[in-house]
Amino acid sequence: MALSQLAGRFIGVRRHEVDPGGGGSPRVPRPVTAVVVGGGIAGMSAAVVLAERGIEVTVLEAAPTLGGRLGAWPETLADGTCQLNEHGFHAFFRQYYNWRNILRRVDPALRFLRPVPGYPVLSAEWPTEEFGRLPPAPPANLLTLLVRSPSLRLRDLRGMDRDAALPLLTYDPVRTYAEFDHTTADELLDSLRLPDRARAMLFEVFSHSFFNHEADMSAAEMIAQFHFYLLGNPEGLAFDCPDEDYATAIWGPLARHVERHGGRIRTGEPVTGLRRDADGWRVHSTDGTYRAGHVVLAVDPPALAALVAESPMLAEQAPALAAVTPAYGRPGPPYAVARYWCDGDVDPERAIFSGVSRQPTLDSVTLYHRLERESREWAERTGGSVIELHAYACEPGVPATDLAERMRSELAVLWPETARLRVRHLCARVEAKAPAFTPGGHAGRPGVRTDAAGLYLAGDGIRTNFPSALMERAAATGVLAANHILQAEGGATEPVHSIRPRGLLARR
Ligand SMILES: Cc1cc2nc3c(=O)[nH]c(=O)nc-3n(C[C@H](O)[C@H](O)[C@H](O)COP(=O)(O)OP(=O)(O)OC[C@H]3O[C@@H](n4cnc5c(N)ncnc54)[C@H](O)[C@@H]3O)c2cc1C
Repeated sequence: MALSQLAGRFIGVRRHEVDPGGGGSPRVPRPVTAVVVGGGIAGMSAAVVLAERGIEVTVLEAAPTLGGRLGAWPETLADGTCQLNEHGFHAFFRQYYNWRNILRRVDPALRFLRPVPGYPVLSAEWPTEEFGRLPPAPPANLLTLLVRSPSLRLRDLRGMDRDAALPLLTYDPVRTYAEFDHTTADELLDSLRLPDRARAMLFEVFSHSFFNHEADMSAAEMIAQFHFYLLGNPEGLAFDCPDEDYATAIWGPLARHVERHGGRIRTGEPVTGLRRDADGWRVHSTDGTYRAGHVVLAVDPPALAALVAESPMLAEQAPALAAVTPAYGRPGPPYAVARYWCDGDVDPERAIFSGVSRQPTLDSVTLYHRLERESREWAERTGGSVIELHAYACEPGVPATDLAERMRSELAVLWPETARLRVRHLCARVEAKAPAFTPGGHAGRPGVRTDAAGLYLAGDGIRTNFPSALMERAAATGVLAANHILQAEGGATEPVHSIRPRGLLARR
């Protein structure tokens, strides 16, 4: 254990137990059926727990492949090679306790996750800022960042409004939202009176990673995410990534695990509506109707709003849910992912993953040929490289190939050698499915339980009363949904964990 982690433990910076699990039988005592709609992280996490406890679970996934926004699918390149393309680079942070527990079902030592060294933030205006080599735990990581960061000098710290910065250290799951949900992240950052460089290099890259513009994002949500990623966990900003594509490393093995426990997985089968009868739920898909005692809707926000709108009975059976889904279903801005297969490599010292600050479109760069086996083999065979570019919150209405081209020219400003690379193949996508964290939106954010008996929600936009975000929130809400069903049916619940539930300086 690092010294900073030891010091952090004294002030409660450690893994906390939200639910110790247990409290029922290892397998439910009578036959129980459940349908999980959506086969992304949230849906599959719920399905894993339900199947293991003997519940007859069926997962219905609209897409031909599992994984949702962490999905992977085959793609034939211009040179005739088949490669598994993905929804985009994902950082598996080490405080993703619940997601990692699900992944341990298929790899108990998590050997498929490899540490990604460094976390540089690139800028055309200022020298690179390195987030990857900080002590892991707070407060040492924060103090080191303040002392070491070239973007923040002592005189900047003196000029800062330290009172305005206090909310970042006093995260509280109730008070923070009560006080800051109606403020924008932009306004909060303005109030800190940071020099432009520190704001760009230390804060903006971070807030962009949540698929929202600061001007449209709740300050409370930004404070919560600062706490979750930097100020409340003993693992810090270090992260790992699979050394294989997501289909091979995660979705194939997880699907087999669910099926070995008696679960069924049906891909390419969109759900079109649901209603509750006297004897339970009926879930209608393009291929038929499923009866179930319990239903977990683990779909992205726009899909949830569409599903509720297409299920007219829910207006009576779950009026509170039907009232919040239209607003909840409006996603954040579009995000773009462009994977380029090129005919040469970038300079050897370039990091596997880099954040990018203040480019109009580009937010991150990943060198897949130094990350995943299949891309590495393609690059070794051809002498080329596989470079993925992301924009996390981009201009609406711009075609994916135009966004890809913009990102590529912005990369050439930061890494001039990329201008010489010729493109052999491009996969470009743009979509808008990420939850919006608009100011004032917290009160209307649905939680895992709904007002209809036996109907639960899971996903990265669903509220948790402990700190979580993105993949970890998707997995945690999936497990929580499964736990509600298990509690109702006499099954043992799955343990749930969280980082330190409150900020370092939060009042009890
Ligand atoms: C480019 C990109 C980069 C990211 N990077 C990171 C990262 O580095 N770290 C991190 O933690 N997170 C990251 N994320 C976020 C992460 O991908 C999501 O938080 C997570 O995958 C959400 O999982 P989910 O199960 O809630 O939703 P989804 O993955 O959206 O799953 C919902 C599923 O429901 C299915 N569905 C929808 N409608 C229906 C229907 N009617 N019937 C049946 N099925 C339906 C969809 O097809 C989908 O498979 C990134 C996301 C993107 C897009």
